[in-house]
Amino acid sequence: MGSKGFAPEPISGIVEKVEPLPNEPLPDELGRRLAELLGADRVVTDPVRLRTYECDGLTNHRSTPGIVVLPDTAEQIAAIVRECAAAGVPYVARGSGTGLSGGALPRADGVLIVTSRMRRILEVDIPGQRAVVEPGVINLDVTRAVRQYGYYFAPDPSSQQICSVGGNVAENSGGAHCLKYGFTAHHVLSCEVVTPDGEIVELSADGPGYDLLGVFVGAEGTLGITTKITVRLTRLPETVQTLLAAFESIEAGGAAVSAIIGAGVVPAAIEMMDALSIEAAEAAVRCEYPPGAGAVLIVELDGPEPEVAAQFAQVERLCRDAGAFEIRIAADDAERTLIWKGRKSAFAAVGRISPAYIVQDGVIPRTVLPQVLARIDALSAESGVRVANVFHAGDGNLHPLVLFDDAEPGAEQRAEEVSGAILDLCIEHGGSITGEHGVGVDKSRYMPRMFTEADLDTMQMVRCGFDPAGLCNPGKVFPTPRLCGEVPGVRKGPHPYEGKADLF
Ligand SMILES: Cc1cc2nc3c(=O)[nH]c(=O)nc-3n(C[C@H](O)[C@H](O)[C@H](O)COP(=O)(O)OP(=O)(O)OC[C@H]3O[C@@H](n4cnc5c(N)ncnc54)[C@H](O)[C@@H]3O)c2cc1C
Repeated sequence: MGSKGFAPEPISGIVEKVEPLPNEPLPDELGRRLAELLGADRVVTDPVRLRTYECDGLTNHRSTPGIVVLPDTAEQIAAIVRECAAAGVPYVARGSGTGLSGGALPRADGVLIVTSRMRRILEVDIPGQRAVVEPGVINLDVTRAVRQYGYYFAPDPSSQQICSVGGNVAENSGGAHCLKYGFTAHHVLSCEVVTPDGEIVELSADGPGYDLLGVFVGAEGTLGITTKITVRLTRLPETVQTLLAAFESIEAGGAAVSAIIGAGVVPAAIEMMDALSIEAAEAAVRCEYPPGAGAVLIVELDGPEPEVAAQFAQVERLCRDAGAFEIRIAADDAERTLIWKGRKSAFAAVGRISPAYIVQDGVIPRTVLPQVLARIDALSAESGVRVANVFHAGDGNLHPLVLFDDAEPGAEQRAEEVSGAILDLCIEHGGSITGEHGVGVDKSRYMPRMFTEADLDTMQMVRCGFDPAGLCNPGKVFPTPRLCGEVPGVRKGPHPYEGKADLF
């Protein structure tokens, strides 16, 4: 799948939202059938309760679902999917609803399948270093269940106290420690999946043939619904060392990151925050970062004690060489928690200094970090839109927080424009429009800037291979409605799904 690399023209002008979702009433019969299958207490049709589910973490896109169902088992999900398929009704899976790209945005003419009742850890196999969990299990609960045996679940999104493993699989979520440990895809061994035709199948990393598990993880819930996940457990490291380094500027912090990675050190995490995000974190959680810092860097090393000790000294020296004016080393877990507190709360903390904000997610090569950050600064200065920067500096995953006052006419539009221009910069520098939050409904309009028509058609063919009727989380990931029949290739006669363009 090739990417266009350089964007031929800026995308910052593209601010319109995707097509509004159609709002056709669901057949009453479907609600009755679902209540028969699951029991009336597992089917939500009350308009007030339905509104609870109208958005995920991307709150500027909302749609009240037609029906919400709360299944307990994979068999129930399979039966729901078969009912939807028979009625030609679209459906969307939802875990905890913390997604930041609108992946779990429901449809008014569809069914929202919520996995919050499927929270059992079914098996912990310590010798095999794996656990089997239901999709609604909260990420951190996996670690809580196995820590006593010296293991943990490595993917650690900042939302790990509330997000579900099913959501992590769908988004291929990462976290502060994915620089060393990889994304969710690296920690999933198999998934039980309800396919769009209502079958229950197993996708495994071990089997021969195409890596369908690899296709499924990160597909944002568009290829089926996972009902059981076997995750890899990682051994807790022998030792962990964390430092906080304060710099006068982002450029100096960026230089320290380059020096550390360039020296061959692979930290478990390198996170950076700029002055505005430090201010927000300070206001929210009193993390006591050094006053006057233009940027702070959190560097964490883990592994065998002698190796960590040697590399930690090297990291400390490289930070000082790059101009760190204060370095704090966590002496114990309490101090480590305090260092991380500011970073982990940064997204939410920005709410303290701005009535509204857009959480952007883009990737750039780490080596161009200082240039891109300088351009973001310039964009902010030119537009008057404040931008706070929080990022996984080691792998170039930026999370600019674009601030605005939603009470001020035109402010959201300006923020959207700056937000789009930041993605321009990412593409222009050989990066990507998303690092870990997914495309969802929010970024589908930017996909043609990264991918050629042929790329998008190829992806669409994969989707059609799983879901020819296009009922599984339609309207997400892809920029324009396409029928399976519209993908390249010779076809004769009418396509079986002709006339159902609104389902895509
Ligand atoms: C404060 C905050 C911090 C965050 N920090 C990070 C971070 O550091 N790193 C990161 O990667 N993300 C982060 N996120 C984003 C989000 O938490 C992750 O994307 C998370 O994995 C979503 O899980 P969820 O259970 O909330 O999924 P949902 O939001 O419910 O759904 C997300 C997507 O998964 C699909 N889905 C859900 N369950 C299933 C299933 N069983 N089968 C198939 N598809 C399914 C949905 O249809 C949707 O497309 C953050 C979000 C917030 C609010």
